[in-house]
Formats: sequence, structure tokens, C-alpha cells
Amino acid sequence: MKITIIGGGASGMMAAITAAAAGAHVEILEGGPLLGKKILSTGNGRCNLTNIALDTSLYQGSAAKMAAALIKEFPPRDTIAFFEKIGIPTVTAASARGNDSWVYPACKEASAVRKALELECERLGVAILTEHRVETIRKIEKEFLITTREGIQYQADRVILSTGGKALPKSGSDGSGYELAASFGHSLVPPLPALGALISDSSLCSALAGIRADAAVSLIVNRSVTAEEYGEIQYTDYGLSGIPVFQVSSRAVRALTEGKQVMLRLDLIPDVKMNDLFLKLSERKIRRGLHESGTLLLGLVPDKMVPTLLKLAGIRLHIPCSEINRDALMKLAYTLKNLEFEINDAKDFDACQVTSGGIPASEVSLNLESLKVRGLYFAGEILDVDGPCGGYNLQWAWTSGYKAGSEAAR
Ligand SMILES: Cc1cc2nc3c(=O)[nH]c(=O)nc-3n(C[C@H](O)[C@H](O)[C@H](O)COP(=O)(O)OP(=O)(O)OC[C@H]3O[C@@H](n4cnc5c(N)ncnc54)[C@H](O)[C@@H]3O)c2cc1C
Repeated sequence: MKITIIGGGASGMMAAITAAAAGAHVEILEGGPLLGKKILSTGNGRCNLTNIALDTSLYQGSAAKMAAALIKEFPPRDTIAFFEKIGIPTVTAASARGNDSWVYPACKEASAVRKALELECERLGVAILTEHRVETIRKIEKEFLITTREGIQYQADRVILSTGGKALPKSGSDGSGYELAASFGHSLVPPLPALGALISDSSLCSALAGIRADAAVSLIVNRSVTAEEYGEIQYTDYGLSGIPVFQVSSRAVRALTEGKQVMLRLDLIPDVKMNDLFLKLSERKIRRGLHESGTLLLGLVPDKMVPTLLKLAGIRLHIPCSEINRDALMKLAYTLKNLEFEINDAKDFDACQVTSGGIPASEVSLNLESLKVRGLYFAGEILDVDGPCGGYNLQWAWTSGYKAGSEAAR
């Protein structure tokens, strides 16, 4: 049995290792110069490879239920055991709310994860052909004929398409896999950038650019709260970035493409209720008396935010605290808990982490085989499923690679 894997990223390498371990003759055709180039960029170079508190209900897309079912077969504990086996012990690290569930290699080096996968492919005799970008695949009777950009042809009994989505195209995943799937009659849920920064025309952006601070984030679509997150916000001159923004970005982008109104509302002091915050500010006003109005917010928010927040509440910067009236104090408390940004757009595929959209679940069986052509399997981000930050997308790559590899080798 000869299996050709098109795309040697996270899911492709996992598929190769699984299929080769099951006894198949495996070959990877990778378009770029290196297997798993994108892995190097993951987790800020540290590779958040899974999550021990993974909640499968957080996956989105038509294949979300399929992903949830398959992750039961190859869950995060299997990922951890697999990496331990290939020489990469793991550790957990705290996420924004402090729960220790995000899993990283103990050495905190994504390059070690990439290298260990490559070494395991080599150990199992997988033929690795880099700089082999596939341009066409045809099936003639029982055999697949694969042609690369250079016109070289390869034959395979089974093919696994693991070409990724469109995120970070410089890593090699430029969406060409969708065209290969389309040549077999597959359709496509339009790919959109996900886990990326959001763009806002609000004048607040330039005023707050460069600041990083924790906040609770609500995504508001057509005036209804549709998602909530917490963590460090990065204020930029074009809009908002940071993990909590990434987490809601996929929903925001879908809503924008549907012509809906999208807002992000930030609560800068989420642990204190509105009334209590007003009382706290009132106490501070008395305590700070003749000191400047800005001292009211000392220690509550980053210093650089203070002028903008006071301005929004209609409080002049240099007046004494004692001159701030009750209404202005109320408005300040409200502003601290309701800093709103209208969202106009999102950063594109060059600057996002994953793709939402892809090959729909209705065209793939639960063993990840195409329902259009026998012997063609899918793994990874090419399918219409995406997860939040926290190891969800790599876990899907490992699970789907494992499943496609073992089924194709059957
Ligand atoms: C900056 C960044 C940080 C991230 N951090 C994390 C994280 O910490 N944790 C997490 O869980 N997820 C993270 N992700 C997401 C995760 O990296 C991806 O979901 C995962 O790599 C997808 O794996 P894949 O195998 O489907 O695709 P990819 O890893 O994209 O691999 C696809 C491969 O196919 C090759 N290819 C494409 N077309 C062809 C062709 N026609 N012929 C031959 N080869 C082809 C490409 O060159 C590429 O090597 C991050 C993503 C980015 C961009």
C-alpha cells in the first residue's frame, strides 16, 4: 500500500507517522523547503501543542461535531503521550484566567517539536520530498496520479490532503489544497481569517495605541452579546489585538461578511460591579481631594489610558478631584466598564493564525475519507473546523492526522 501525503505540516507529519507505523509505504510531498514550517511560529515560538482541559464544544464550522467525535479517539492525553514517546516531554502553563491547561514542550521550543516529528518520519522510513509543490491530482481507475509544479509525476494507492488552510501563507499554506479538492468535485465553505486582530476606525485606537492591559471583552453583533472572553488586550493604531480579541475574531469576521454591525465592548475592571466601582471612585475622590483628576485612576488602569478615559467621561485632566461631580464620576465608572469600539474589518490571512471555512463535513466520512472519491483522505485545517487559541488547532491537526493516517493505511 503506497500512501502519498500532500502537505508536510502538523497534520501531514502525524498522518505519515501513523500510516508508516501501521506498515504502509509513505511519501510526503511538501511544497516548501522544510516540513512543518508553520509549527515554528506557533505559541510565539513555544508551540502550544494541546490543552488538557480541551472543551470540544468550542470548535466551530460544519466539521466541529466530527472533530469533537474524533478527538475522543485521539484526545490531548494521547498527544502528550505521543510527544513524550518521540522525545518531547511537555509541561502546562497558565492561560489568561490562570488555569494551567495550555500544554507546551518542556523546552518551550517549537523547533524541537518540528524536528522530533521530522526525525520520527525518517525513523519510520517515510520518503520526504520537500520543494515538491503539487499542482494536480487525478484518479485513473484505482490509482492516483500526482503531478508537481516541476511536472514530476507520482503514483499512489491512497492520498491524504493535508495542505492546511490559508493562514500565514508564507509558511506554505496558501489555499492551493482547496483547488486540488475541487478537482474531485469538492465544494468549499468560503475561507475567512480567524484568530486575528480586528480593525476599528474609532479615534480611540490612535489615542490608546501601544497600551497592553487586561480586560473582559464582549463581542456584540447587531446589539446582542455573542461571545465573551478575558485577557490581555493590545491596543494598536489600527484596532485591537491580543488573545481575547483573537478568540472572538472568527465570529466577528463571519458577522461582518453577513453585513451585521459588530462592536467590541471592553470592561477594564471586570471584577468590580458598576455600583461598587462608582463607590470606589467616590472614596478615591475624597481621599485624593486637591490632587489632579488623573490620580483617581491611579493603580486601576495603565497610566497612559488615563487622559483618554477622563476625556470620555467629560472630566478635565488637571482639575482637582474634589471638583469632579457625581454625574461625571458615574460616567467615568460607566466608561471603565463599557469602552466600545465599532469593528469595521479584520486583519487578513497574512496576520491571522487559522482559517475558518474549508472542505465541508457533509463531503467527508467520519474516517476522514472523501465522499466524492474513494481513497482520498483529509487532515487538518483544510477541513471546515477551527478552534480557539490554547492548543485547539494543533490538537485537531494531531487527531485528524492520526485518524487519516490510520484509516488510509487500513
Ligand atoms: C502564528 C501562528 C501561531 C499559531 N499558534 C498555535 C498554537 O500555539 N497552538 C495551536 O494549537 N495552533 C496554533 N496555530 C494554528 C496551527 O499552527 C495550525 O492550525 C496547524 O499548523 C494546521 O496544521 P495543518 O497540517 O492542517 O496545516 P499547515 O501546518 O499549514 O501545513 C500545511 C502544509 O502543506 C503544504 N502545502 C500547501 N499546499 C501544498 C501543495 N499544493 N503541495 C505541497 N505542499 C503543500 C504547506 O507548505 C504546509 O507545510 C498557529 C498558527 C499561526 C499562523
